[in-house]
Amino acid sequence: MFNIESVFDWKAALLVYGCRVGSSTEFSFVISLKKIHLYAHSNEKINQPLPDDLLLSDQTIARIRYRSQSPFVLESIEGGYQIRHEASGKSLSVRLVPRPGFSEVKVSELPISSICSFLGVDLLGISPSNYCFYFQTKKQCKFCEILPTFKSEVEFPKTFKSLDVIEKSILAALQNEERLRFVAITTGNIYSYDATVDYFAEIGERLQKAEIFQQAEQVLATLMPPDDLSKIALLREKGFTKIYFPLEIFECGHFKVVCPGKAEFGYDRILKALEVAVEVFGVGNVYTNFVYGIQSLNSSLDAASYDPEEENRLSLIAVKEMLARKVIPAFTLYHYGGYNALGNIELDLDCTNAFFREWGRLVYDSKLVPAQQQAVLFSSLSLSNTLFNDGFLLAHNQENAIWT
Ligand code: SF4
Repeated sequence: MFNIESVFDWKAALLVYGCRVGSSTEFSFVISLKKIHLYAHSNEKINQPLPDDLLLSDQTIARIRYRSQSPFVLESIEGGYQIRHEASGKSLSVRLVPRPGFSEVKVSELPISSICSFLGVDLLGISPSNYCFYFQTKKQCKFCEILPTFKSEVEFPKTFKSLDVIEKSILAALQNEERLRFVAITTGNIYSYDATVDYFAEIGERLQKAEIFQQAEQVLATLMPPDDLSKIALLREKGFTKIYFPLEIFECGHFKVVCPGKAEFGYDRILKALEVAVEVFGVGNVYTNFVYGIQSLNSSLDAASYDPEEENRLSLIAVKEMLARKVIPAFTLYHYGGYNALGNIELDLDCTNAFFREWGRLVYDSKLVPAQQQAVLFSSLSLSNTLFNDGFLLAHNQENAIWT
């Protein structure tokens, strides 16, 4: 158990402080290297290819957030790599993820790596649209960087991907990489809420016809709810097994400030859509998302107003309220790639660590996730950039250590 706890602490520290790279450290071409699809997770650039993720143990994977001043350094050692905390000299040997078998595939003459991404060790991510109509009306969520990141950093030439490109890419990825077990489809709003859901339904309909698609154990849709809530059932019919309608901010007044476009759709309507989704998808398959690090900002959204203790208090209220609604309250960690008006926020490590441990205990105790599952979503090696699966695994192991 000590080992799991210790590795959890390493992951939390790496996500909060990022890491830099030793001067003579190089990465082989057979390693899965970082590609930016939705967000850059750091506003610093490095002029060398970097791996996306580090395997810290058989059950823990951490995203590399490059920071040139980080106290952690990733470096080569004999026979592999390690992360070393320079001040204390403590180190952890790590492994890198072999690149996916579909790396060299082309779809519609484009490299597949510009269309979809290999996440963790078993998840395929694809975004039908890096556009969101909130940007047009200047009502985008204040933390969001999806469109400016696309304009500056993403290789795919258009904000919008056609049905053909999406279908061919997902199927080619599955055909060429047997580690893939899960598919996540995430988008900004296309031109209306209902049209976005219809687009997902068309994607699902095409994919369902392919035998190889049965290999996907979980298929996640992340999007805004439709105006017409009866369309939620359509997503389930078309093969999606998990759904996220992200609220991002729990406190309703703060939600209106941070997410003005979503606020026009309506806070209560998102809650209603989550309720309908629980009926349609079943308990344990419906998620909302909150951004950890911005719940406590003041109404001017001044980055300096981030208050770690208050952040945890507010976030834990959100967790309990959502669990009571049978919705799993996923959390992403706030990150800044240089493209939003909030700017950089230095998360407090101790509070971040404590929050995700408590999150794991609350979600474990809620029993919304079947006891035999060791992850809340996908596997423990799918989501490198957040700590919620890790907090859950910790709670799961603590419980089993007591009772077995
Ligand atoms: S809904 Fe908000 S977070 Fe999602 S893409 Fe649009 S602006 Fe970004």
